[in-house]
Amino acid sequence: MAVTVKSAREIDLMREAGKRLEYVHDRMQEMIKPGVSTWEIDKLGDKLIREQGCEPNFLNYNGFPASICVSVNEEVVHGIPSKHRILQDGDIVSLDCGLIYKGYHSDAARTHAVGKVKEEVLKLMEVTRQSFFEGIKKATDGAHLFEISNAIADYVEPYGYGIVQDLVGHGIGTKLHEDPQIPNFRQRRKGLKLRAGMTLAIEPMINLGGYEVEWLDDDWTVVASDGLPSAHYENTILVTEGEPEILTLGRWS
Ligand code: MG
Ligand code: MG
Repeated sequence: MAVTVKSAREIDLMREAGKRLEYVHDRMQEMIKPGVSTWEIDKLGDKLIREQGCEPNFLNYNGFPASICVSVNEEVVHGIPSKHRILQDGDIVSLDCGLIYKGYHSDAARTHAVGKVKEEVLKLMEVTRQSFFEGIKKATDGAHLFEISNAIADYVEPYGYGIVQDLVGHGIGTKLHEDPQIPNFRQRRKGLKLRAGMTLAIEPMINLGGYEVEWLDDDWTVVASDGLPSAHYENTILVTEGEPEILTLGRWS
């Protein structure tokens, strides 16, 4: 599939999809505390998406059974919400979700601290988030796609963290996952030339320990193989001739 360049009308719809998703994330963040189940977070997120006249795009995607992916500690992504999974003081929790507004998708992820979290894990979260902002500095018309990947790697590698390789970012538009795939680790090739009007979901997944991951028996949950915490941060962005526009985050940094 070719990488799509969106029209002005499509970009407006993507902006609306992004704004609504930002609101969902902001509201979900308010409920993060010890004692809350991951199921409750999914319920709220699903409700907020539908209240805004949108559809959750994760629900039933390849059979995924919930609207929000809720991944705790060593879970990297695609955690399945459960009434039995209760957030504990000291946990970190990654919320990944998306929605469809008038046929257009948005996708974003945040990692939150639950109560008091160890300094080294807070640092992991901060570096993961910042790596997204370092990456998108390269997301400009005429640049090459893998400049984004390498900017993320350049920023993260000095910390000695493991950059997940089995999962990557992606184009987004009338489908949740469009071409191109966007790795967060070092690339030798340059990748395709970016054009204003491309919409991309950039999403570094960074492990405190090694980069290796595995899939649990539920066929969904991806965990760090060494059991150490993992953080995830994602926004949907629009490539422009200048700074990229972050569609799922109205504020810069
Ligand atoms: Mg996502
Ligand atoms: Mg994504």
